[in-house]
Amino acid sequence: MYEHDVIVVGAGGAGLRAAIAAKNEGADVAIVSKVHPVRSHTGAAEGGINAALREGDSWEDHAYDTMKGSDYLGDAPAIETLCKNSPNEVIQLEHWGMAFSREEDGRVSQRPFGGLSFPRTTYAGAETGHQLLHTMYEQLVKSGVQVYDEWHVLNLAVTDEERPEDRTCHGVVAYDVQTGEISGFRARNGVILATGGPGQAFDHTTNAVSCTGDGQAMAYRAGVPLEDMEFIQFHPTSLPSTGVLISEGVRGEGGILYNAEGERFMFEHGYANNDGELASRDVVSRAELTEVNEGRGIDDEYVHLDMRHLGEERILDRLENILHLAEDFEGVDGLKEPMPVKPGQHYAMGGIETNENGETCVNGLYAAGECACASVHGANRLGGNALPELIVFGKRAGKHAAGAEMEPAKIETGQRGEYETAEIDSPVALGEPGSFGDADAVADGGTVAEGGSVDETSIVERAVEAERRNIDELLSSEGIHHSEVRSDLQQSMTRYVNVFREEEGLKQALRDIREARDRYKDVAVSDPSRTFNTDLLQTIETRNLLDLAEAITIGALAREEFRGAHWRAEAPERKDDEWLKHTMLSWNDGTPELWYRPVMLEGEDKTYEPKTRSY
Ligand SMILES: Cc1cc2nc3c(=O)[nH]c(=O)nc-3n(C[C@H](O)[C@H](O)[C@H](O)COP(=O)(O)OP(=O)(O)OC[C@H]3O[C@@H](n4cnc5c(N)ncnc54)[C@H](O)[C@@H]3O)c2cc1C
Repeated sequence: MYEHDVIVVGAGGAGLRAAIAAKNEGADVAIVSKVHPVRSHTGAAEGGINAALREGDSWEDHAYDTMKGSDYLGDAPAIETLCKNSPNEVIQLEHWGMAFSREEDGRVSQRPFGGLSFPRTTYAGAETGHQLLHTMYEQLVKSGVQVYDEWHVLNLAVTDEERPEDRTCHGVVAYDVQTGEISGFRARNGVILATGGPGQAFDHTTNAVSCTGDGQAMAYRAGVPLEDMEFIQFHPTSLPSTGVLISEGVRGEGGILYNAEGERFMFEHGYANNDGELASRDVVSRAELTEVNEGRGIDDEYVHLDMRHLGEERILDRLENILHLAEDFEGVDGLKEPMPVKPGQHYAMGGIETNENGETCVNGLYAAGECACASVHGANRLGGNALPELIVFGKRAGKHAAGAEMEPAKIETGQRGEYETAEIDSPVALGEPGSFGDADAVADGGTVAEGGSVDETSIVERAVEAERRNIDELLSSEGIHHSEVRSDLQQSMTRYVNVFREEEGLKQALRDIREARDRYKDVAVSDPSRTFNTDLLQTIETRNLLDLAEAITIGALAREEFRGAHWRAEAPERKDDEWLKHTMLSWNDGTPELWYRPVMLEGEDKTYEPKTRSY
């Protein structure tokens, strides 16, 4: 058993920032990550980081743009925390040596991005995430944080009181990818989940294969509600054959979208008469698919993104990486031809419910980064707002877990009994009562006995035993390969839970997920070895994707309105009277329970009044 004050699960931008902050508070900190830190998906971020740095800009304007972008489903305390703190956090990155692109006079460059009223996106060419990750990894190494890389976390060690608010997380159970060793990691102060998004629930995604939402699934099954899961961002410019992202930076620099008839459709078809290509992502994705659906797409599938007019010098200076991606993955020379693009799954606005300090409703359990929902992005994230979220909320979670004095959060977590609940209109049974990996399994394996007589170490030890049994069972059983289940799931999600959603399609997705869950009961691992058994680990990840795909679809079916990235054929308008509320989903020992919490529009000095959202 390993023991530390703070255990951070995940080494992307959020995990690294959390670990550095906790260490700076004097805590003994460890990171446990299934991939080496610099292979985390943050490294794929291209376009930039939003921060109000310049004269003429302000955190208040950034907050307003973010709230408008969220379609009024963001919580004002979280949005204001993000926008007030991101300038200092970007300056901190600069002081740590991050190689930002610069103006002639030496100032850090900023470019326009979709939905922003000021060009406030700082960037490092089209490799911002790579630079950010490496800069923070250097600081991590310098700080002496212990890194357990290529350790795959299987579950949390959480007590099993009836109400999630009374439970405590004492650590995690992880599997050493190199050796197959299964070990407990006891956290004296807290566990911070920074495990990224669930993009692999879809088959056309900009996300890496490691983005399987493990932390979200583990927290959900341990009793923490998932919030606003139906809000999935589809980025308008992914390459059709692979899903590889072409950064919004291309449009930020002046790139233009054309349909098959050579029309600049964002203006010519009136989708965004002011901002055109730089409208918010949800607006551009719907416009592209409308063009395709109405017969003006190219090869009935995609549109063109043209940057040739920017000129070779500017492209090489600011977007060189894009040239390589288009050439390598689509065989297109962006200096000479337009690039084919279509919407692809990109980001999860929802996630593990937290407050502004990263706390969840389970004591000692925190979340930050894409896996968390504080909620900054509401129904739609603005480009360039995820990276500041990692560094602002990663730092806050790290400090809080290390015991730093912080202002109490304004956002409350948990307490579902006080709020409106709703029936789920599902054609099939949902969830997985009493099955592998759910809260019951944790309870069987290692939770506190009545009266609290079991000590914290044995809670972790028993959770380890439960996971050993689960792994032994997976390695010894015979049956189908997880990839069959996973690919059917991904295809169903891409078909039915995409940019345009309708009731019957969402119900079909729930049927497909049910079938996939039933087939998963017969899943078997074909590789029996204990070393580098990616087959085993992907089998476990597939189980996580099943739970998360279901959560996304339940939220989408229940929300009968059009808000941000969520469009419903039966209700194509925003309904503020009924739907200014967060979708909350609790695992409830395997039977998902849907409830709603009101959105918080009261900021520090003002209330954000919902307005018609046009660009
Ligand atoms: C192609 C692309 C480009 C983007 N560009 C931008 C941009 O320009 N600007 C912007 O603001 N946002 C951008 N985003 C969004 C942003 O990059 C991500 O939301 C963000 O990087 C996620 O960071 P994270 O730290 O939360 O998770 P990640 O960087 O995904 O890291 C997750 C970590 O968790 C670990 N992990 C996961 N599961 C387990 C487990 N079971 N056990 C142990 N460890 C685990 C992984 O090893 C990894 O270290 C982009 C996203 C994509 C996909």
